[in-house]
Amino acid sequence: MHYLVTGGAGYIGSHICLRLTELGHGVTVLDDFSSGHRWAVTGHEVIEADLRDLEQLRRLLSGCDFDGVFHFAAKSLVGESGKKPVYYFQNNVSGTANLLEVALEQGWRDCVFSSTAAVYGNPTTETIAETQPLKPINVYGQTKRVMEELLSAVHAQGNCNAACLRYFNAAGAAPEQGLGEWHEPETHLIPNILRRAAGDDLALTIFGDDYATPDGTCIRDYIHVLDLADAHIKAMELLHQQGGFYRLNLGNGRGYSVREVLGACEQAVGVPIAHTVGARRPGDPARLVADATQAGEVLDWQPIRDLQAIVESAWAWEQQRRAMAQV
Ligand code: UDP
Repeated sequence: MHYLVTGGAGYIGSHICLRLTELGHGVTVLDDFSSGHRWAVTGHEVIEADLRDLEQLRRLLSGCDFDGVFHFAAKSLVGESGKKPVYYFQNNVSGTANLLEVALEQGWRDCVFSSTAAVYGNPTTETIAETQPLKPINVYGQTKRVMEELLSAVHAQGNCNAACLRYFNAAGAAPEQGLGEWHEPETHLIPNILRRAAGDDLALTIFGDDYATPDGTCIRDYIHVLDLADAHIKAMELLHQQGGFYRLNLGNGRGYSVREVLGACEQAVGVPIAHTVGARRPGDPARLVADATQAGEVLDWQPIRDLQAIVESAWAWEQQRRAMAQV
């Protein structure tokens, strides 16, 4: 098979490209490199384009023969999304509409779409199943919900098959293959802890320890990016075999508190990691944990890497990332 991977230079997209090529598939990455990395697409065919430019997309993609599209290209910073809603809707929603228009013209029917647990907003149950109402509390989550609706409407017309995969907290890396997470600025918990542990001059803060959780810190469901990659590939195989439209949570189904994550990182690093406790971060629900039963059944998929494996891979990657940053 040969697939188009939009946003293939980003964190999750680059790990999907890796797994696809390991399985012998061809990959063409489409990316605008606004946040993705050129080093992350080494060895793949690359098209540099902005999804907002429909005529450019048509020019670059017409005549291409793809067996399906993995669609990751999107803006994804929650804080920024609130400040720039028009920009987020243009990039994420209009960009997806343009991509679909070209895909339909070219006859690429199967699309695996990168969605997010942010479509749910504040959960009302211990674990979140796909039946939870969609009430995103930030613009980023709103754009992803609309992107899902767009795919659903096109599917209802009989023109495409799609799997919307709602990730919980993607984490970990593939250090043996030279891939991992690299955002500037970095806002995520695990890379922030490990950057601090490696000696970065950043103030590591636990955002609130007065939540109604056992140790007072927020609970999240961390899932290894390579487990996510396997689920994406199984989802594409499902679309090829039986078509359809799916919305599936991808998580471990197990929650860890910020303090537990810090403890796992200290174990991986081998020393205590200096930190302080600060105020709550606005917009953080106390607990977000997936009920990923449906993905397990529909995709015949189970995540196989636990929190310790996640932080160990992230720590090995952090050493590589620092070496790359110094060149
Ligand atoms: N967090 C923290 N300190 C940090 C970064 C994150 O305490 O420097 C907390 C954050 O409040 C949340 C959890 O860690 O409860 C995971 O945050 P992250 O930004 O990694 O992912 P999110 O759940 O927001 O998608």
